[in-house]
Amino acid sequence: MQLKLLLPVPTSINALYINQWGYDHKLKRNAPTGAKILSKEGEKCKEQIQFHTQKQLEGQEWDYEWTVDKNNFMFMDVWIYFSRRGRDSDNIFKLLSDSLEKLVYDNDSRVLPRVQRVLYDTKNPRIQVEFSPVDYIGIFRNSEEIDEFESRCKTCTRYLDGRCSILNDSLIGTVREEIGDVDDPNCTAYKEKK
Ligand code: SF4
Repeated sequence: MQLKLLLPVPTSINALYINQWGYDHKLKRNAPTGAKILSKEGEKCKEQIQFHTQKQLEGQEWDYEWTVDKNNFMFMDVWIYFSRRGRDSDNIFKLLSDSLEKLVYDNDSRVLPRVQRVLYDTKNPRIQVEFSPVDYIGIFRNSEEIDEFESRCKTCTRYLDGRCSILNDSLIGTVREEIGDVDDPNCTAYKEKK
């Protein structure tokens, strides 16, 4: 499962928000309310990103429902083509993430951004974005590592047909001290079945 998008360069976070103004009854005049709202530039850019995303989602194999599961994480690889030098790649992610939430994915807390390249194109500034599920599952590198780990669990008195809390925490990415180094998981709570 993969999704590829070609989108406008998102407005920098520095130009994304403005102060909200409203009538202040004490001062009897308009004054900043203390809240921040999207700038006109930010609003317009968000609309464009969402418009292009909706069009490009058609015909691509992307399962939005898969992103709703709180255990599913995805990479967001980004190639950036700025119109000029000097812009910071970190500053585009706030608007990009907000624009794609509820359209490409349910919640941006499970999206892992990775900038692949920053280039410059004065005539056609743009970003290329590719989404793909991460390889890892919980603390494990992949399903093969789970199978290997769980095959030992099945000979452990605490396995209880898969209900062991240490195993289940590990499968959803919660680090348990019994597991030791997550790069080489080895459960110290193991008790061999007699
Ligand atoms: S205690 Fe450790 S080895 Fe035993 S079932 Fe749970 S995770 Fe597996």
